[in-house]
Amino acid sequence: MAKAKVGKKITGIAVDLPECPVCLETMSAPIFQCQSGHSLCHSCSKNLCPAICPICRQPMTQMRNWQLEEIIAKANVPCPNKSYGCVYTMTSEGVDEHLRECIFREMVCPLGAVFGKCSWTGKLKEMMDHFKDRHPQNCNINTETEVEFNNISIHEDERFVYLVSQGKLLFIVTMKIDTLQNIAYWVIQHIGSKNMAQQHIYEIHITSKQDNRRKVVFIDHCFNDSYTADGVYRLGKCGILPLKVLTHFILNKKFSFQFYIKRNPAGPKNKVEKMTGTYENKQPFKGYKGPKPKGPNNQQHRNPTPKSGRSKSPFNARH
Ligand SMILES: [Zn+2]
Ligand SMILES: [Zn+2]
Ligand SMILES: [Zn+2]
Ligand SMILES: [Zn+2]
Repeated sequence: MAKAKVGKKITGIAVDLPECPVCLETMSAPIFQCQSGHSLCHSCSKNLCPAICPICRQPMTQMRNWQLEEIIAKANVPCPNKSYGCVYTMTSEGVDEHLRECIFREMVCPLGAVFGKCSWTGKLKEMMDHFKDRHPQNCNINTETEVEFNNISIHEDERFVYLVSQGKLLFIVTMKIDTLQNIAYWVIQHIGSKNMAQQHIYEIHITSKQDNRRKVVFIDHCFNDSYTADGVYRLGKCGILPLKVLTHFILNKKFSFQFYIKRNPAGPKNKVEKMTGTYENKQPFKGYKGPKPKGPNNQQHRNPTPKSGRSKSPFNARH
């Protein structure tokens, strides 16, 4: 058996995960052995030229180390962003999946990804400051205030993207007018884990500027930012209006909508996302003070207060 270097702890079992003697990384499948049984990771063994073991100079073989592969597959490893503060642990197979949604990963500016205008990269906690600094018109909106547009047309493609914070969490609000597909859509995404996204529900309230008896409300759960807004639209799980309908909500190119985001106290009813890991120190959600599920009170929305309108949300669980 390989004289393995001491590596990462396996949670629950007092064993240290062996590292590849060549690259010193935790080995992952497939793991091949030399004739006398030393194990190397796949990329190191395949790059050996000639194919002899760097420890004992015996030829490498095609023999797999199945037991070691199994131990490593079952072991919990810490997030590679642990040094930045991530407390998440997962099986080694779940690392890639977690890294796509780890809130401590290096992020790109959501506007850069959409418009290609901003090349900012940084950590999530710096993102709001970046927006305030470089994209102030794309972040100075609060949930429950009206988002106003003064020059909107259903004949021009438009995409509006806003970064909003709720408690410590960040969300991206997207509204898009797509003249090719003849639709407008609204999507709210949480920047973070799928699980946290699933625990948040949003409402989009659109009241016609022509006739305030005409109103649509979309309610859905958030997706996380591993999807693009267009990706969520393609799933069909967001607020969608045909442009022919939207036109009855616009008056003299003026249009507005309101949105609310709330933590769903019950959590997702049917857990569609399979959790592949755990947060060991679960932080309570700061902005939310206990379950206060109230039925939507549509009366409050019949006469929307214009502009200054911080009208009361059915989601108003905070003060
Ligand atoms: Zn290696
Ligand atoms: Zn060897
Ligand atoms: Zn992480
Ligand atoms: Zn930016």
